[in-house]
Amino acid sequence: MKYIARVSEKIYLTENQHFWLIKLELTKPDRISFTAGQYASLRVDERGMRRSYSIASTPDNEHGINLVAEMVPGGVGSTYLQKIKLGEEVEILAPLGQFVIQKTELRNNNLLFVATGSGIVPLWSMINDLLINKHERRQMRLHWGMRSEEDLFWVDNLERLAETYPNFVFDIVLSKPSEKWELCSGHVQDCLMRDFPQGLTQWEAYVCGRQAVVIEIAAKLEELGMKREDIYHEKFS
Ligand SMILES: Cc1cc2nc3c(=O)[nH]c(=O)nc-3n(C[C@H](O)[C@H](O)[C@H](O)COP(=O)(O)OP(=O)(O)OC[C@H]3O[C@@H](n4cnc5c(N)ncnc54)[C@H](O)[C@@H]3O)c2cc1C
Repeated sequence: MKYIARVSEKIYLTENQHFWLIKLELTKPDRISFTAGQYASLRVDERGMRRSYSIASTPDNEHGINLVAEMVPGGVGSTYLQKIKLGEEVEILAPLGQFVIQKTELRNNNLLFVATGSGIVPLWSMINDLLINKHERRQMRLHWGMRSEEDLFWVDNLERLAETYPNFVFDIVLSKPSEKWELCSGHVQDCLMRDFPQGLTQWEAYVCGRQAVVIEIAAKLEELGMKREDIYHEKFS
């Protein structure tokens, strides 16, 4: 469905300004129903070129959606969002995509979330929605691969969730950490090997990030005993 929305807030999430949070207030129509994990397609130039951004808010907010954009130097979508001003109107198509938590009637798998970079966005929405709105009781584990400490955001929120909900645990994995970093470093898939030596047969996974990494992570999950049909993914191509 096509929406017109107004930029109501725009802030950077990291001091290096690599990641921005953009809040959109829906004007026409002014209400949306979506499932956590879905995305919006944003018109980013006069000719109608579009870029996809996962919805970085939870479905209980029906009058607006948030987006988180990684600023790719020279990128068409990145430049559009970098320049956009408060109060300006944008055109979006939403909600789109099938990357959502699967129905649970027939199974009781634990939930593994694996993200790299801005791939955290749909997983963040799923995790917040599951814990806060849906009172999910299954074990939930997030592995988030990022480059360095300077690129991290939402860590406070994840820490709060982990403190409040004992069934949620998260790990951050940095590929280029500073010397002070004491937690897992390297590729996110290496830390999966470390954290699940007993394998992943009772789990299903939601994986999101750039295409090549998603393929590597899915292969690693299968190596750890996860069935291919239990791996759901979104590739940011
Ligand atoms: C379903 C879906 C959901 C998505 N959700 C999000 C989201 O929530 N947040 C988000 O930031 N992005 C998301 N993306 C990716 C987003 O749509 C754009 O592809 C990305 O932001 C780059 O767009 P751009 O127009 O700025 O760059 P482009 O003009 O498309 O690319 C410019 C150059 O940068 C390269 N490039 C593209 N992305 C990267 C990158 N990450 N790092 C380094 N080089 C790159 C390209 O290969 C190209 O050479 C999503 C993609 C899909 C398919």
